[in-house]
Amino acid sequence: MSIMFSGVGVSRGIAIGTVHRLQRHDIEVGEISLNSQDIPAEIERFNTAVDTARTQLHNIVDNIPLTLNVEIGAFIEAHLMMLDDDILAEGTARIIKERQCNAEWALKLQMERIGQVFDAMEDEYLATRKNDISHVIQRIMRALQNIGPPEHDHDPQVWEGKIVVADDLTPADTIVMQHHGVAGFATESGGPLSHTAILARSLDIPAVVGLHEARRYIRDGEPIVVDGNIGLVLVDPHYEAVEYFNSKRNRYLRKRRELVKIKDAPAQTLCGTRISLQANIETEADVAALRKVNAEGVGLYRTEYLYMRHTDVYPSEQEHYDSYIKLVRALKGAPLTIRTVDIGGDKEIQHTQAGTVAHNPALGVRGVRLCINEPAIFLPQLRAILRASAKGPIQILLPMLTNVEEVMQIKRLLENTKSDLRNDGHKFDENIQMGGMIEVPATAIAAQQFVRHLDFLSIGTNDLIQYTLAIDRVDDQVNYLYDPLHPAVLMLIGNIIKAGDKQNIPVSMCGEMAGDSRYTRLLLALGLRSFSMPANALLEVKSVINNSSLGKLDTHARKISKCDNPLKQIALLDKLNTGIESIAH
Ligand code: PEP
Ligand code: MG
Repeated sequence: MSIMFSGVGVSRGIAIGTVHRLQRHDIEVGEISLNSQDIPAEIERFNTAVDTARTQLHNIVDNIPLTLNVEIGAFIEAHLMMLDDDILAEGTARIIKERQCNAEWALKLQMERIGQVFDAMEDEYLATRKNDISHVIQRIMRALQNIGPPEHDHDPQVWEGKIVVADDLTPADTIVMQHHGVAGFATESGGPLSHTAILARSLDIPAVVGLHEARRYIRDGEPIVVDGNIGLVLVDPHYEAVEYFNSKRNRYLRKRRELVKIKDAPAQTLCGTRISLQANIETEADVAALRKVNAEGVGLYRTEYLYMRHTDVYPSEQEHYDSYIKLVRALKGAPLTIRTVDIGGDKEIQHTQAGTVAHNPALGVRGVRLCINEPAIFLPQLRAILRASAKGPIQILLPMLTNVEEVMQIKRLLENTKSDLRNDGHKFDENIQMGGMIEVPATAIAAQQFVRHLDFLSIGTNDLIQYTLAIDRVDDQVNYLYDPLHPAVLMLIGNIIKAGDKQNIPVSMCGEMAGDSRYTRLLLALGLRSFSMPANALLEVKSVINNSSLGKLDTHARKISKCDNPLKQIALLDKLNTGIESIAH
Protein backbone atom coordinates (compact mmCIF):
# COMPACT_ATOMS: atom_id res chain seq x y z
CA MET A 1 0.00 0.00 0.00
CA SER A 2 1.36 3.42 -0.93
CA ILE A 3 1.91 5.93 1.87
CA MET A 4 2.51 9.62 1.25
CA PHE A 5 4.39 11.91 3.65
CA SER A 6 4.62 15.63 3.53
CA GLY A 7 7.72 17.39 4.86
CA VAL A 8 9.97 20.27 3.94
CA GLY A 9 11.77 20.04 0.61
CA VAL A 10 15.27 21.31 1.32
CA SER A 11 17.11 20.25 -1.80
CA ARG A 12 15.47 20.18 -5.19
CA GLY A 13 15.22 17.32 -7.62
CA ILE A 14 13.44 14.00 -7.63
CA ALA A 15 14.94 10.69 -6.57
CA ILE A 16 13.33 7.34 -7.25
CA GLY A 17 14.85 4.23 -5.68
CA THR A 18 14.81 1.92 -2.69
CA VAL A 19 14.98 2.72 1.01
CA HIS A 20 18.08 2.38 3.12
CA ARG A 21 17.19 3.15 6.72
CA LEU A 22 19.69 4.69 9.07
CA GLN A 23 19.42 5.12 12.81
CA ARG A 24 21.49 7.96 14.25
CA HIS A 25 20.08 8.28 17.74
CA ASP A 26 18.97 5.57 20.17
CA ILE A 27 15.58 4.19 19.23
CA GLU A 28 12.81 5.69 21.33
CA VAL A 29 10.03 3.28 22.19
CA GLY A 30 6.68 3.64 23.87
CA GLU A 31 4.37 1.12 25.49
CA ILE A 32 1.57 -0.34 23.40
CA SER A 33 -1.07 -2.46 25.17
CA LEU A 34 -2.01 -5.67 23.39
CA ASN A 35 -5.00 -8.00 23.52
CA SER A 36 -4.30 -11.39 25.08
CA GLN A 37 -4.87 -13.17 21.74
CA ASP A 38 -2.03 -11.09 20.18
CA ILE A 39 0.56 -12.10 22.79
CA PRO A 40 1.83 -15.33 21.09
CA ALA A 41 2.40 -13.43 17.81
CA GLU A 42 4.24 -10.67 19.69
CA ILE A 43 6.52 -13.21 21.39
CA GLU A 44 7.10 -14.77 17.98
CA ARG A 45 8.00 -11.34 16.58
CA PHE A 46 10.47 -10.86 19.42
CA ASN A 47 12.04 -14.31 18.84
CA THR A 48 12.38 -13.57 15.12
CA ALA A 49 14.18 -10.31 15.96
CA VAL A 50 16.57 -12.22 18.24
CA ASP A 51 17.19 -14.71 15.40
CA THR A 52 17.89 -11.82 13.00
CA ALA A 53 20.37 -10.34 15.47
CA ARG A 54 22.01 -13.76 15.83
CA THR A 55 22.33 -14.16 12.04
CA GLN A 56 23.86 -10.68 11.78
CA LEU A 57 26.47 -11.54 14.42
CA HIS A 58 27.29 -14.87 12.74
CA ASN A 59 27.75 -13.01 9.47
CA ILE A 60 30.24 -10.71 11.13
CA VAL A 61 32.17 -13.64 12.60
CA ASP A 62 32.21 -15.39 9.21
CA ASN A 63 33.59 -12.31 7.53
CA ILE A 64 36.38 -11.48 9.97
CA PRO A 65 39.62 -11.89 7.98
CA LEU A 66 41.91 -14.54 9.44
CA THR A 67 44.65 -11.98 9.85
CA LEU A 68 42.54 -9.91 12.23
CA ASN A 69 42.86 -9.96 15.93
CA VAL A 70 41.19 -12.99 17.57
CA GLU A 71 39.82 -10.65 20.23
CA ILE A 72 37.27 -9.31 17.76
CA GLY A 73 35.93 -12.81 17.26
CA ALA A 74 35.79 -13.34 21.03
CA PHE A 75 33.98 -10.05 21.44
CA ILE A 76 31.27 -11.06 18.97
CA GLU A 77 31.05 -14.50 20.58
CA ALA A 78 30.30 -12.75 23.87
CA HIS A 79 27.44 -10.89 22.21
CA LEU A 80 26.12 -14.15 20.81
CA MET A 81 26.16 -15.70 24.26
CA MET A 82 24.21 -12.76 25.64
CA LEU A 83 21.60 -13.29 22.95
CA ASP A 84 21.23 -16.91 24.02
CA ASP A 85 20.99 -16.09 27.69
CA ASP A 86 17.61 -16.86 29.25
CA ILE A 87 17.69 -13.67 31.24
CA LEU A 88 17.35 -11.72 28.01
CA ALA A 89 15.09 -13.92 25.88
CA GLU A 90 12.85 -15.49 28.50
CA GLY A 91 12.86 -12.42 30.72
CA THR A 92 11.56 -10.27 27.87
CA ALA A 93 8.99 -12.84 26.77
CA ARG A 94 7.71 -13.00 30.36
CA ILE A 95 7.22 -9.23 30.47
CA ILE A 96 5.33 -9.31 27.15
CA LYS A 97 2.99 -11.91 28.66
CA GLU A 98 2.59 -10.33 32.09
CA ARG A 99 2.16 -6.70 30.97
CA GLN A 100 0.48 -7.59 27.67
CA CYS A 101 2.68 -5.08 25.93
CA ASN A 102 4.74 -4.72 22.75
CA ALA A 103 8.12 -6.42 22.46
CA GLU A 104 10.07 -3.14 22.24
CA TRP A 105 8.68 -1.93 25.56
CA ALA A 106 9.28 -5.29 27.24
CA LEU A 107 12.85 -5.32 25.97
CA LYS A 108 13.43 -1.81 27.26
CA LEU A 109 12.14 -2.80 30.74
CA GLN A 110 14.27 -5.92 30.75
CA MET A 111 17.31 -3.86 29.73
CA GLU A 112 16.72 -1.57 32.71
CA ARG A 113 16.51 -4.56 35.05
CA ILE A 114 19.71 -6.06 33.69
CA GLY A 115 21.36 -2.62 33.87
CA GLN A 116 20.58 -2.43 37.60
CA VAL A 117 22.22 -5.81 38.15
CA PHE A 118 25.38 -4.62 36.37
CA ASP A 119 25.38 -1.32 38.26
CA ALA A 120 25.41 -3.23 41.53
CA MET A 121 28.49 -5.23 40.53
CA GLU A 122 31.68 -4.41 42.36
CA ASP A 123 33.90 -6.04 39.77
CA GLU A 124 34.95 -3.24 37.41
CA TYR A 125 35.49 -5.52 34.44
CA LEU A 126 32.03 -7.04 34.75
CA ALA A 127 30.47 -3.61 35.19
CA THR A 128 31.87 -2.58 31.79
CA ARG A 129 29.98 -5.46 30.15
CA LYS A 130 26.82 -3.40 30.63
CA ASN A 131 27.80 -1.62 27.44
CA ASP A 132 27.87 -4.90 25.55
CA ILE A 133 24.41 -5.77 26.78
CA SER A 134 23.08 -2.45 25.60
CA HIS A 135 24.68 -3.01 22.15
CA VAL A 136 23.04 -6.41 21.89
CA ILE A 137 19.69 -4.96 22.93
CA GLN A 138 19.96 -2.11 20.42
CA ARG A 139 20.62 -4.72 17.73
CA ILE A 140 17.42 -6.60 18.65
CA MET A 141 15.53 -3.30 18.90
CA ARG A 142 16.63 -2.38 15.36
CA ALA A 143 15.57 -5.78 14.08
CA LEU A 144 12.16 -5.28 15.71
CA GLN A 145 11.86 -1.95 13.92
CA ASN A 146 13.09 -3.30 10.57
CA ILE A 147 16.25 -1.23 10.63
CA GLY A 148 19.40 -2.77 9.16
CA PRO A 149 22.26 -3.82 11.46
CA PRO A 150 24.32 -1.06 13.12
CA GLU A 151 27.40 -1.97 11.06
CA HIS A 152 25.53 -0.84 7.92
CA ASP A 153 25.35 2.67 9.38
CA HIS A 154 29.12 2.77 9.13
CA ASP A 155 29.41 1.07 5.78
CA PRO A 156 28.80 3.66 3.09
CA GLN A 157 29.25 0.97 0.43
CA VAL A 158 25.72 -0.20 1.12
CA TRP A 159 24.36 3.33 0.63
CA GLU A 160 25.10 3.51 -3.08
CA GLY A 161 22.11 4.39 -5.26
CA LYS A 162 19.83 4.21 -2.22
CA ILE A 163 17.46 6.73 -0.73
CA VAL A 164 18.52 7.12 2.86
CA VAL A 165 15.70 7.43 5.38
CA ALA A 166 16.99 8.49 8.80
CA ASP A 167 15.95 10.04 12.06
CA ASP A 168 18.60 12.68 11.51
CA LEU A 169 21.88 13.09 9.66
CA THR A 170 25.07 14.83 10.56
CA PRO A 171 26.77 17.12 8.03
CA ALA A 172 29.60 14.59 7.88
CA ASP A 173 27.08 11.84 6.93
CA THR A 174 25.78 13.99 4.11
CA ILE A 175 29.21 14.50 2.62
CA VAL A 176 30.07 10.81 2.85
CA MET A 177 26.73 10.05 1.23
CA GLN A 178 27.44 12.05 -1.84
CA HIS A 179 30.81 10.41 -2.29
CA HIS A 180 29.09 7.05 -2.18
CA GLY A 181 26.38 7.93 -4.65
CA VAL A 182 23.33 8.22 -2.40
CA ALA A 183 20.38 9.14 -4.64
CA GLY A 184 18.38 11.17 -2.10
CA PHE A 185 17.45 11.39 1.53
CA ALA A 186 14.51 11.87 3.83
CA THR A 187 14.82 12.62 7.54
CA GLU A 188 12.42 12.91 10.44
CA SER A 189 14.01 16.04 11.87
CA GLY A 190 15.90 19.03 10.49
CA GLY A 191 15.03 22.33 8.87
CA PRO A 192 15.81 24.13 5.60
CA LEU A 193 18.76 25.96 7.13
CA SER A 194 20.38 23.08 8.95
CA HIS A 195 23.87 22.47 7.76
CA THR A 196 22.81 19.05 6.53
CA ALA A 197 20.16 20.65 4.28
CA ILE A 198 22.66 23.20 2.99
CA LEU A 199 25.06 20.40 2.17
CA ALA A 200 22.35 18.44 0.38
CA ARG A 201 21.70 21.44 -1.85
CA SER A 202 25.33 22.01 -2.54
CA LEU A 203 25.87 18.32 -3.27
CA ASP A 204 22.76 18.24 -5.45
CA ILE A 205 21.02 15.42 -3.58
CA PRO A 206 17.20 15.66 -3.56
CA ALA A 207 16.13 15.83 0.09
CA VAL A 208 13.07 16.20 2.29
CA VAL A 209 13.25 16.78 6.06
CA GLY A 210 10.80 17.16 8.95
CA LEU A 211 8.97 13.86 8.32
CA HIS A 212 7.95 13.21 11.89
CA GLU A 213 7.71 9.50 12.80
CA ALA A 214 7.97 8.50 9.13
CA ARG A 215 10.31 5.61 9.84
CA ARG A 216 7.58 3.80 11.71
CA TYR A 217 5.96 3.18 8.34
CA ILE A 218 8.98 2.80 6.07
CA ARG A 219 10.92 -0.44 5.74
CA ASP A 220 14.38 -1.20 4.43
CA GLY A 221 14.38 -2.05 0.73
CA GLU A 222 10.95 -0.58 -0.05
CA PRO A 223 10.52 1.43 -3.27
CA ILE A 224 10.34 5.15 -2.58
CA VAL A 225 10.10 8.54 -4.31
CA VAL A 226 11.58 11.72 -2.80
CA ASP A 227 10.43 14.97 -4.39
CA GLY A 228 12.64 17.71 -2.95
CA ASN A 229 10.82 20.37 -5.00
CA ILE A 230 7.60 20.08 -3.05
CA GLY A 231 8.70 18.22 0.10
CA LEU A 232 6.88 14.99 -0.70
CA VAL A 233 7.86 11.40 0.01
CA LEU A 234 5.93 8.49 -1.44
CA VAL A 235 6.57 4.97 -0.19
CA ASP A 236 5.69 1.91 -2.24
CA PRO A 237 4.29 4.03 -5.08
CA HIS A 238 1.82 2.69 -7.61
CA TYR A 239 3.39 2.31 -11.07
CA GLU A 240 1.33 5.25 -12.39
CA ALA A 241 2.82 7.44 -9.67
CA VAL A 242 6.31 6.26 -10.61
CA GLU A 243 5.61 7.21 -14.23
CA TYR A 244 4.36 10.63 -13.13
CA PHE A 245 7.44 11.32 -11.01
CA ASN A 246 9.73 9.98 -13.72
CA SER A 247 8.36 12.43 -16.25
CA LYS A 248 8.45 15.24 -13.67
CA ARG A 249 12.08 14.41 -12.99
CA ASN A 250 12.90 14.39 -16.70
CA ARG A 251 11.21 17.75 -17.15
CA TYR A 252 13.19 19.21 -14.24
CA LEU A 253 16.47 17.85 -15.58
CA ARG A 254 15.66 19.12 -19.08
CA LYS A 255 15.04 22.65 -17.75
CA ARG A 256 18.32 22.52 -15.87
CA ARG A 257 20.13 21.42 -19.02
CA GLU A 258 18.56 24.31 -20.92
CA LEU A 259 19.96 26.72 -18.38
CA VAL A 260 23.47 25.57 -19.28
CA LYS A 261 23.11 27.64 -22.46
CA ILE A 262 23.58 30.83 -20.42
CA LYS A 263 26.65 29.51 -18.63
CA ASP A 264 29.09 31.75 -20.53
CA ALA A 265 26.82 34.80 -20.74
CA PRO A 266 27.62 37.61 -18.30
CA ALA A 267 25.25 38.11 -15.37
CA GLN A 268 23.82 41.46 -16.36
CA THR A 269 20.43 43.10 -15.98
CA LEU A 270 18.50 44.25 -19.06
CA CYS A 271 19.53 47.79 -18.15
CA GLY A 272 23.20 46.83 -18.25
CA THR A 273 24.19 46.50 -14.56
CA ARG A 274 26.78 43.76 -14.02
CA ILE A 275 26.12 41.42 -11.11
CA SER A 276 28.77 39.20 -9.54
CA LEU A 277 27.82 35.54 -9.11
CA GLN A 278 30.08 33.34 -7.03
CA ALA A 279 29.70 29.89 -5.53
CA ASN A 280 29.66 28.49 -2.00
CA ILE A 281 31.75 25.38 -1.50
CA GLU A 282 32.12 22.86 1.30
CA THR A 283 34.96 20.68 0.05
CA GLU A 284 37.67 20.88 -2.59
CA ALA A 285 35.63 18.55 -4.77
CA ASP A 286 32.92 21.20 -5.17
CA VAL A 287 35.11 23.20 -7.54
CA ALA A 288 34.05 20.89 -10.36
CA ALA A 289 30.42 22.04 -9.96
CA LEU A 290 31.53 25.66 -9.85
CA ARG A 291 33.34 25.30 -13.17
CA LYS A 292 30.27 23.75 -14.82
CA VAL A 293 28.36 26.97 -14.22
CA ASN A 294 31.26 29.33 -14.77
CA ALA A 295 31.02 31.02 -11.36
CA GLU A 296 33.30 34.01 -10.94
CA GLY A 297 34.98 32.54 -7.90
CA VAL A 298 34.29 31.19 -4.43
CA GLY A 299 32.32 33.64 -2.28
CA LEU A 300 32.23 31.27 0.68
CA TYR A 301 34.45 28.31 1.42
CA ARG A 302 33.03 26.72 4.58
CA THR A 303 36.13 25.18 6.10
CA GLU A 304 34.36 23.13 8.77
CA TYR A 305 34.66 19.94 6.76
CA LEU A 306 38.43 20.05 7.28
CA TYR A 307 37.62 19.76 10.99
CA MET A 308 34.85 17.20 10.59
CA ARG A 309 37.22 14.81 8.86
CA HIS A 310 38.99 14.33 12.19
CA THR A 311 37.61 12.59 15.21
CA ASP A 312 40.24 13.46 17.79
CA VAL A 313 42.58 16.22 16.56
CA TYR A 314 42.28 19.48 14.67
CA PRO A 315 43.63 19.79 11.15
CA SER A 316 47.29 20.79 10.96
CA GLU A 317 48.57 23.91 9.22
CA GLN A 318 49.80 21.67 6.39
CA GLU A 319 46.38 20.09 5.95
CA HIS A 320 44.77 23.53 5.71
CA TYR A 321 47.48 24.67 3.32
CA ASP A 322 47.10 21.63 1.06
CA SER A 323 43.37 22.24 0.79
CA TYR A 324 43.74 25.94 -0.02
CA ILE A 325 46.49 25.37 -2.56
CA LYS A 326 44.44 22.70 -4.30
CA LEU A 327 41.60 25.21 -4.59
CA VAL A 328 43.82 28.10 -5.71
CA ARG A 329 45.20 25.90 -8.50
CA ALA A 330 41.75 24.68 -9.52
CA LEU A 331 40.37 28.22 -9.58
CA LYS A 332 43.08 29.45 -11.97
CA GLY A 333 43.14 33.06 -10.80
CA ALA A 334 39.49 33.36 -9.71
CA PRO A 335 39.10 34.64 -6.14
CA LEU A 336 38.81 32.30 -3.18
CA THR A 337 37.04 33.57 -0.04
CA ILE A 338 38.00 31.37 2.88
CA ARG A 339 35.68 31.61 5.84
CA THR A 340 37.61 30.92 9.00
CA VAL A 341 36.32 28.01 10.99
CA ASP A 342 32.72 28.29 12.15
CA ILE A 343 32.38 25.21 14.35
CA GLY A 344 29.60 25.28 16.92
CA GLY A 345 25.87 25.77 16.71
CA ASP A 346 24.55 23.50 13.98
CA LYS A 347 28.06 22.62 12.77
CA GLU A 348 29.10 20.27 15.50
CA ILE A 349 32.29 18.32 15.38
CA GLN A 350 32.96 15.30 17.52
CA HIS A 351 35.48 16.96 19.81
CA THR A 352 36.28 20.41 20.99
CA GLN A 353 38.89 21.58 23.42
CA ALA A 354 36.34 24.02 24.74
CA GLY A 355 35.39 21.09 26.96
CA THR A 356 31.97 22.04 28.21
CA VAL A 357 28.80 21.51 26.24
CA ALA A 358 26.95 24.78 25.71
CA HIS A 359 23.36 24.95 26.96
CA ASN A 360 22.39 26.72 23.78
CA PRO A 361 25.09 26.11 21.17
CA ALA A 362 23.68 28.64 18.67
CA LEU A 363 24.25 31.36 21.25
CA GLY A 364 27.47 29.90 22.59
CA VAL A 365 31.12 29.84 21.68
CA ARG A 366 31.02 29.50 17.90
CA GLY A 367 32.59 31.15 14.87
CA VAL A 368 34.97 33.97 15.58
CA ARG A 369 34.38 33.58 19.34
CA LEU A 370 35.93 30.12 19.21
CA CYS A 371 38.83 31.41 17.07
CA ILE A 372 39.63 34.05 19.67
CA ASN A 373 39.14 31.71 22.65
CA GLU A 374 41.12 28.84 21.21
CA PRO A 375 44.05 30.07 19.14
CA ALA A 376 45.30 26.47 18.85
CA ILE A 377 42.37 25.80 16.53
CA PHE A 378 42.60 29.04 14.65
CA LEU A 379 46.28 29.95 14.22
CA PRO A 380 47.25 26.99 12.02
CA GLN A 381 44.39 28.00 9.74
CA LEU A 382 45.41 31.63 9.68
CA ARG A 383 49.03 30.76 8.89
CA ALA A 384 47.91 28.41 6.11
CA ILE A 385 45.57 31.00 4.58
CA LEU A 386 48.35 33.59 4.55
CA ARG A 387 50.89 31.18 3.04
CA ALA A 388 48.43 30.11 0.35
CA SER A 389 47.71 33.78 -0.45
CA ALA A 390 51.18 33.95 -2.04
CA LYS A 391 49.91 31.62 -4.77
CA GLY A 392 46.61 33.20 -5.76
CA PRO A 393 43.84 35.66 -4.84
CA ILE A 394 42.54 34.74 -1.41
CA GLN A 395 40.48 36.74 1.04
CA ILE A 396 39.55 36.01 4.65
CA LEU A 397 35.96 35.98 5.87
CA LEU A 398 35.16 36.05 9.61
CA PRO A 399 31.97 34.33 10.81
CA MET A 400 29.64 35.40 13.63
CA LEU A 401 31.02 38.86 14.30
CA THR A 402 29.14 40.57 17.11
CA ASN A 403 31.29 43.53 18.04
CA VAL A 404 34.06 45.60 16.48
CA GLU A 405 36.51 44.53 19.18
CA GLU A 406 36.44 41.02 17.73
CA VAL A 407 37.61 42.43 14.40
CA MET A 408 40.41 44.27 16.21
CA GLN A 409 41.47 41.11 18.05
CA ILE A 410 41.60 39.12 14.81
CA LYS A 411 43.54 41.93 13.14
CA ARG A 412 46.14 41.76 15.94
CA LEU A 413 46.37 37.98 15.50
CA LEU A 414 46.72 38.51 11.76
CA GLU A 415 49.56 41.00 12.17
CA ASN A 416 51.38 38.73 14.63
CA THR A 417 51.00 35.80 12.28
CA LYS A 418 52.29 37.84 9.36
CA SER A 419 55.32 38.82 11.39
CA ASP A 420 55.98 35.15 12.36
CA LEU A 421 55.73 34.12 8.71
CA ARG A 422 58.15 36.86 7.64
CA ASN A 423 60.61 35.61 10.27
CA ASP A 424 60.15 32.06 8.96
CA GLY A 425 60.84 33.25 5.41
CA HIS A 426 57.34 32.56 4.07
CA LYS A 427 55.74 34.70 1.37
CA PHE A 428 52.15 35.90 1.55
CA ASP A 429 49.86 38.64 0.26
CA GLU A 430 50.74 41.62 2.48
CA ASN A 431 47.44 43.30 1.59
CA ILE A 432 45.21 40.30 2.06
CA GLN A 433 41.59 41.47 2.32
CA MET A 434 39.56 40.64 5.39
CA GLY A 435 35.77 40.73 5.41
CA GLY A 436 33.07 39.89 7.90
CA MET A 437 29.93 37.79 7.79
CA ILE A 438 27.01 39.93 8.86
CA GLU A 439 24.75 37.35 10.43
CA VAL A 440 24.03 38.62 13.93
CA PRO A 441 21.26 41.23 14.14
CA ALA A 442 23.40 43.52 16.34
CA THR A 443 26.09 43.55 13.65
CA ALA A 444 23.54 44.20 10.93
CA ILE A 445 22.08 47.15 12.85
CA ALA A 446 25.53 48.59 13.61
CA ALA A 447 26.91 47.72 10.16
CA GLN A 448 28.13 51.31 9.64
CA GLN A 449 30.65 50.75 12.48
CA PHE A 450 31.96 47.51 11.04
CA VAL A 451 32.50 48.82 7.52
CA ARG A 452 35.21 51.16 8.83
CA HIS A 453 37.33 48.16 9.85
CA LEU A 454 36.62 45.57 7.19
CA ASP A 455 37.39 45.30 3.47
CA PHE A 456 34.07 43.72 2.50
CA LEU A 457 30.85 42.35 4.00
CA SER A 458 29.00 39.13 3.31
CA ILE A 459 25.42 38.74 4.50
CA GLY A 460 24.77 35.36 6.14
CA THR A 461 21.00 35.18 5.92
CA ASN A 462 20.84 31.70 7.45
CA ASP A 463 22.01 32.88 10.82
CA LEU A 464 20.66 36.39 10.40
CA ILE A 465 17.15 34.97 10.01
CA GLN A 466 17.68 32.47 12.83
CA TYR A 467 18.75 35.16 15.29
CA THR A 468 16.37 37.87 14.13
CA LEU A 469 13.28 35.67 14.26
CA ALA A 470 14.49 33.62 17.27
CA ILE A 471 14.07 30.32 15.43
CA ASP A 472 16.61 27.57 15.86
CA ARG A 473 17.64 26.67 12.33
CA VAL A 474 17.79 22.95 13.14
CA ASP A 475 14.52 22.73 15.05
CA ASP A 476 11.86 21.50 12.66
CA GLN A 477 9.09 22.56 15.04
CA VAL A 478 9.76 26.20 14.17
CA ASN A 479 10.35 25.73 10.43
CA TYR A 480 7.05 27.41 9.77
CA LEU A 481 8.40 30.66 11.17
CA TYR A 482 11.32 30.79 8.73
CA ASP A 483 10.59 33.85 6.66
CA PRO A 484 13.16 35.73 4.58
CA LEU A 485 10.43 38.28 3.77
CA HIS A 486 9.87 39.27 7.39
CA PRO A 487 10.04 43.10 7.43
CA ALA A 488 12.77 43.00 10.10
CA VAL A 489 14.94 40.74 7.94
CA LEU A 490 14.47 42.95 4.88
CA MET A 491 15.21 46.06 6.92
CA LEU A 492 18.46 44.54 8.20
CA ILE A 493 19.54 43.44 4.73
CA GLY A 494 18.81 46.93 3.37
CA ASN A 495 20.77 48.49 6.22
CA ILE A 496 23.83 46.32 5.61
CA ILE A 497 23.84 47.10 1.88
CA LYS A 498 23.52 50.84 2.54
CA ALA A 499 26.36 50.77 5.09
CA GLY A 500 28.63 49.08 2.55
CA ASP A 501 27.67 51.50 -0.23
CA LYS A 502 28.32 54.49 1.99
CA GLN A 503 31.85 53.33 2.82
CA ASN A 504 32.31 52.11 -0.75
CA ILE A 505 33.11 48.55 0.23
CA PRO A 506 31.62 45.51 -1.52
CA VAL A 507 28.64 43.75 0.03
CA SER A 508 27.81 40.22 -0.99
CA MET A 509 25.26 37.70 0.26
CA CYS A 510 26.28 34.09 0.87
CA GLY A 511 23.28 32.82 2.88
CA GLU A 512 20.78 30.50 1.23
CA MET A 513 18.51 33.39 0.32
CA ALA A 514 21.05 34.40 -2.32
CA GLY A 515 20.54 31.12 -4.17
CA ASP A 516 16.76 31.16 -4.11
CA SER A 517 15.64 32.67 -7.41
CA ARG A 518 12.30 33.74 -5.90
CA TYR A 519 14.19 36.45 -4.02
CA THR A 520 16.64 37.54 -6.72
CA ARG A 521 14.66 40.53 -7.99
CA LEU A 522 13.85 41.65 -4.47
CA LEU A 523 17.52 41.56 -3.49
CA LEU A 524 18.48 43.46 -6.64
CA ALA A 525 15.91 46.09 -5.69
CA LEU A 526 17.44 46.29 -2.20
CA GLY A 527 20.74 47.15 -3.89
CA LEU A 528 22.55 43.80 -3.76
CA ARG A 529 25.06 43.41 -6.60
CA SER A 530 27.02 40.35 -5.51
CA PHE A 531 25.62 36.89 -4.75
CA SER A 532 27.28 33.67 -3.60
CA MET A 533 25.32 30.41 -3.57
CA PRO A 534 25.47 26.66 -4.13
CA ALA A 535 26.77 26.21 -7.68
CA ASN A 536 23.68 24.35 -8.85
CA ALA A 537 21.46 27.38 -8.11
CA LEU A 538 23.62 29.84 -10.01
CA LEU A 539 22.27 29.56 -13.55
CA GLU A 540 18.67 29.92 -12.44
CA VAL A 541 19.55 33.08 -10.52
CA LYS A 542 21.50 34.33 -13.52
CA SER A 543 18.54 33.78 -15.82
CA VAL A 544 16.37 35.91 -13.50
CA ILE A 545 19.00 38.68 -13.40
CA ASN A 546 19.36 38.65 -17.17
CA ASN A 547 15.59 39.05 -17.49
CA SER A 548 15.22 41.94 -15.05
CA SER A 549 15.32 45.69 -15.33
CA LEU A 550 16.36 47.43 -12.12
CA GLY A 551 14.15 50.49 -12.66
CA LYS A 552 11.01 48.37 -12.71
CA LEU A 553 11.67 46.56 -9.44
CA ASP A 554 11.67 49.36 -6.90
CA THR A 555 7.95 49.96 -6.44
CA HIS A 556 7.04 46.30 -5.84
CA ALA A 557 10.05 45.75 -3.62
CA ARG A 558 9.16 48.74 -1.45
CA LYS A 559 5.61 47.41 -1.11
CA ILE A 560 6.92 43.96 -0.06
CA SER A 561 9.22 45.47 2.57
CA LYS A 562 6.40 47.51 4.07
CA CYS A 563 3.68 44.87 3.94
CA ASP A 564 2.74 43.29 7.28
CA ASN A 565 0.61 40.49 5.88
CA PRO A 566 2.62 37.40 4.82
CA LEU A 567 0.02 36.23 2.29
CA LYS A 568 -0.12 39.63 0.63
CA GLN A 569 3.67 39.65 0.63
CA ILE A 570 3.73 36.39 -1.34
CA ALA A 571 1.25 37.85 -3.83
CA LEU A 572 3.44 40.95 -4.19
CA LEU A 573 6.51 38.76 -4.63
CA ASP A 574 4.71 36.84 -7.39
CA LYS A 575 3.95 40.14 -9.08
CA LEU A 576 7.56 41.22 -8.79
CA ASN A 577 8.56 37.89 -10.36
CA THR A 578 6.18 38.17 -13.30
CA GLY A 579 7.59 36.45 -16.35
CA ILE A 580 9.89 34.14 -14.41
CA GLU A 581 9.21 30.42 -14.55
CA SER A 582 10.61 28.29 -11.72
CA ILE A 583 12.43 25.20 -12.97
CA ALA A 584 11.03 23.17 -10.09
CA HIS A 585 7.47 22.97 -11.38
C1 PEP B 1 24.77 32.00 6.94
O1 PEP B 1 24.65 31.96 8.16
O2 PEP B 1 23.96 32.54 6.17
C2 PEP B 1 25.94 31.38 6.30
C3 PEP B 1 26.19 31.52 5.02
O3 PEP B 1 26.73 30.62 7.07
P1 PEP B 1 26.35 29.15 7.62
O4 PEP B 1 25.13 28.69 6.97
O5 PEP B 1 27.54 28.31 7.32
O6 PEP B 1 26.19 29.41 9.09
MG1 MG C 1 26.25 31.49 9.43
